[in-house]
Amino acid sequence: MVAKLLNGESLAKEIRTRISEEIATRTKKGIRPPKLSVILVGDDDASSIYVRLKRRDCHEVGIDCDVLHFSHSTSEKRLCNAIRHLNDDNENDGILLQLPLPDHIHALRVIELMDPNKDVDGITPHNLGMLTLREPAHRCCTPKGVMSLLQMTGQQLRGSHACVIGASNHVGRPMCLELLLVGCTVTVSHKFTEDTPRLARQADIVVSATGKAKLVNAEWVKSGATVIDVGIERQPDGSLCGDVDFDSVKEVASWLTPVPGGVGPMTRVSILQNLMDAVERRIS
Ligand code: NAD
Repeated sequence: MVAKLLNGESLAKEIRTRISEEIATRTKKGIRPPKLSVILVGDDDASSIYVRLKRRDCHEVGIDCDVLHFSHSTSEKRLCNAIRHLNDDNENDGILLQLPLPDHIHALRVIELMDPNKDVDGITPHNLGMLTLREPAHRCCTPKGVMSLLQMTGQQLRGSHACVIGASNHVGRPMCLELLLVGCTVTVSHKFTEDTPRLARQADIVVSATGKAKLVNAEWVKSGATVIDVGIERQPDGSLCGDVDFDSVKEVASWLTPVPGGVGPMTRVSILQNLMDAVERRIS
């Protein structure tokens, strides 16, 4: 079997086109463009690249994007004040706090200050809690993007067995909740799990988010399974690679995401979708 590619780049482009048409319609009615404020702390290379891409996506569709760049040594208090200010600013529709934050800042204390309605990354305790309670509000962006890709396959999700490899707060855990929400039976594996390959081999859907390059190979995948690669790892030669050994897994999977061009663009477009939802809720 040679897997079909799940092209996140083209799906994200379609969604951006729809969003830009929606914004153009609003502009004609005299409604101001939506505005996203991104908080970036420090000069981490990967974070700076992600912020640049997010700003480019916003500009492409007509969203105002303001980047507030703080030095690495900025205090938690200063960051908290910035969040409070953005919460109260009626001209600001969404807040995106680029993670990770420097070690001297307690990330959760900053995140929980964010107005859940402006939390377009879906990472506040409120938004994660609503997903847990099966009443999703702003959904966490990477799992939301993965669900859009899974829906694109047209496969029956209800009753399918999904194995999520990785259990981080902003990817693995909400991913499990999204899959449960659509009726999958979910197995989750993490760094203390014994025999992850055995668990993965039982699954109709494998979602890997570990940050371990080429961890998942053909031996881990049932014939005909759908494999979603969330991982993004920079190789010594500068190229990007995922958690999945693409060349071997494409021979057994039915659907497979590439890296880059799979989950990454879908994560970014989910931010734009959440921002549009925030605008909608504010107006109505
Ligand atoms: P993290 O380090 O916070 O979490 C990694 C998880 O993987 C942990 O739960 C850990 O227990 C588990 N793990 C590690 N080794 C394992 C193993 N051998 N077997 C099973 N589980 C194992 O990472 P994260 O923030 O969740 O990100 C994971 C990867 O996804 C990274 O490569 C990151 O760059 C990427 N990522 C991509 C996107 C995107 O949009 N494509 C978004 C977020 C993160």
